[in-house]
Order: sequence, then C-alpha cells, then structure tokens
Amino acid sequence: MNELIFIFILLLPIAWYFGFRNGKKREVGKSSGRQHGLSKTYFTGLNYLLNEESDKAIDTFVSMLEVDSETVETHLALGNLFRKRGEVNRAIRIHQNLIARPSLTSEDRKLALLELGYDYMGAGLLDRAENIFKELSGDFIHKNASLSQLLVIYQQTKDWEKAIATAAKLQYPMSENTQNEISHFYCELAEEALQKQSYRDASGYMKKAFQVDPQCVRATLISAEVHYSKGRYKQALKCYKDLTKQDIAFLPEAMDTLTNCYIQLNDKKGLLNFLSEALSNGGGISTILAYAEILQSQQGDKAAGTFIASQMNQHPSLKGLLRLIELHIEHASEHAKPSLEMLHDIVSKLLKNKPIYHCEHCGFDSKTLFWQCPSCKCWGGVKPIQGIEGE
Ligand SMILES: [Zn+2]
Repeated sequence: MNELIFIFILLLPIAWYFGFRNGKKREVGKSSGRQHGLSKTYFTGLNYLLNEESDKAIDTFVSMLEVDSETVETHLALGNLFRKRGEVNRAIRIHQNLIARPSLTSEDRKLALLELGYDYMGAGLLDRAENIFKELSGDFIHKNASLSQLLVIYQQTKDWEKAIATAAKLQYPMSENTQNEISHFYCELAEEALQKQSYRDASGYMKKAFQVDPQCVRATLISAEVHYSKGRYKQALKCYKDLTKQDIAFLPEAMDTLTNCYIQLNDKKGLLNFLSEALSNGGGISTILAYAEILQSQQGDKAAGTFIASQMNQHPSLKGLLRLIELHIEHASEHAKPSLEMLHDIVSKLLKNKPIYHCEHCGFDSKTLFWQCPSCKCWGGVKPIQGIEGE
C-alpha cells in the first residue's frame, strides 16, 4: 500500500504538469475559448483515483507522461516499482513503451532494455530475457549485470555448458565462490552422464571439476561412484580417503558404498582402520555406528554397546542413543523391556521429525541433500547437520 501511495505521489505532479502543458498547447492553437490549463485525461485519471479505481488511475496517468530526456528516469522508477509489487505486465508495458521511442538516447535505451530483461525474468519469460541479456553482455557498463542474469537463467534451464562459459566470463581471475560454482556445474554434467551410463564422459567432467576446484567434495563422491560402478574398489577407496581430508562432514554420504568396497575386497581389518582413522579426524555418529556394527558381528552386542557408550561421552547423539537402546532391548529383563521399548519409540519419533541437512548460508533445513540450496541458491552450502540431533 505504501508503494501505491508513493506511485501516486510520483505521478500526480508529473501528470498535472503534462496535463497542464498539453492543455496549453492545444489552447495556443485556438483563437478563442476558455483557458482550461489542464487536459481532460488528467481529470479522468483524478476521477478514477477519487473513485478508488487505482489501477485505471495509474494507467491513465502513465499514458499522459511523454517520454523525453526529463521523464526517462520517472518511467524507469515506475517500471521498477511495478515489478517490485509483482505487477510485471505493467512494468513490461512501461519499459517496452520507453524502448519504442526513437528519440531515446542509446544509454537510456540500454537502461530500459536491462529493466525489461528483469521484467521478463520476473514473468518467467526466460528466452526473451536471455536475448536481452545476451545483447547487453557486450556492453561495458551492463556486462556484469547481464552475465549475472544469464548465469541465473542457465542454472534454471540446467544448461550447464552455457552456465560454465558464462561464469568464467563473469569473473576472471575466478574467486573461490566461482570456482566452487563451476565445479558443481561440471558435477551436474557428470551426473547427467552417469544417468546415461556414460562413465567415460562422467570421468572427463570430474577431471575438469577438479581442475577448477581440487577440494570439490561432490566431485570426489561422484568419482568414487564411477570407480565403484566399474568394480575399481581400491580407486574408490582412495577417493573416500581424500573425502575425509576435504570435508569429513560428508562421510555419512559415502558410508554404505565404502563399506561395500571393503566387503568386496574382503578386507574388514582395512575397514576398521579406515573408520578408526576417520574417528580420530572428527568422524561423527555414522562412523561410530559403522565401527560398532563390525564389532557386533565380530564380538557381539555387548562389545558394540560398550563402544557406542564410550564414544557418546565425546559425541552425544540421538542416533547413538537409539542404537544403544536397540542393543540393550534384546538382553533386557521382562521388567525393563517395556520401558526401553517406550524410550526407543520416543527417540525414533524425535529423529523422524528432525532435518538431516542444513544450509550454512541461509539456515534452510531439509531431509534431502541438495547440492544447490533451494532457498538461497548457493552451491555446496547444504551439509549434514552436526551435534546431538545430527552427526
Ligand atoms: Zn541456503
């Protein structure tokens, strides 16, 4: 509502001035008649306003504004306001009207074109927006704004090759953030290749991802997956060792596959060593539980329970507590069993409602790992939650 009032404040004096001027122009041509001063259109607009027909009033006042060098900024400001209020069609009309004026200077035309591009983005007309931003990306002043918008478009349309080329053009030398983004674009291409079982293409994209960002966790996980799929278990394990150095918080994502690698290699001792080392490097409850599972298979429930309990001092965790209860239920007396089962039920329900991942940039929580945060659109910011309710 405040913006609407602002629009009227902006429009009324200007509309009055142009109404007055147009009225004067017409009267100069007449040899006789009364001196009205204001045009009929101005009063029509005012009438709409008094009758609380704000939409019609705005359209009438806007139609009165002549486009000249003095009013270009007013048109741009109006278009901007309409777009911010969600009235994209009105913003498009204003900016198209501006661009159609042959008297517009080249700089003003580019400004109006940029705004029209934003309008098309707001309206979801991405192909039209793309054409405009492509045209403006060659302009020195509007290059960065246009390339940024093209980057948004190519991410939305999942055109990763174009996204890579645009991100590289947008910033040279690349910042860490751009390196991170581009490596994720290569990962997107690799995942598309994996879906088609094109392992060679996927490996090629991974090489490029590592060239841009050698610390890309996602590229490491995909590389491991490619090796695993081809039966190259030792190479897959090498990737998982790299992962623990890059960001051990992502180790739970690899736990099943890395365990399978050791099983395929018939190397349980190797698995215990890997998990033990991961624990000393900050591995969370998933690592503790994987270790406990091996202990359980080798030495029984008691050894597994003792190990989890000893780790819980340093890593208090609901998941650990749940597993501990499960291990105790089997051996509990008939008297203690119902209480343990109730406790198990409560902790299960607590965990069921908890998110697993958290975006470090905007705080978005989810149960799914998104490599691009659905909320703030950053890449690689969503990570497994740490602490008592998470890892
Ligand atoms: Zn986010």
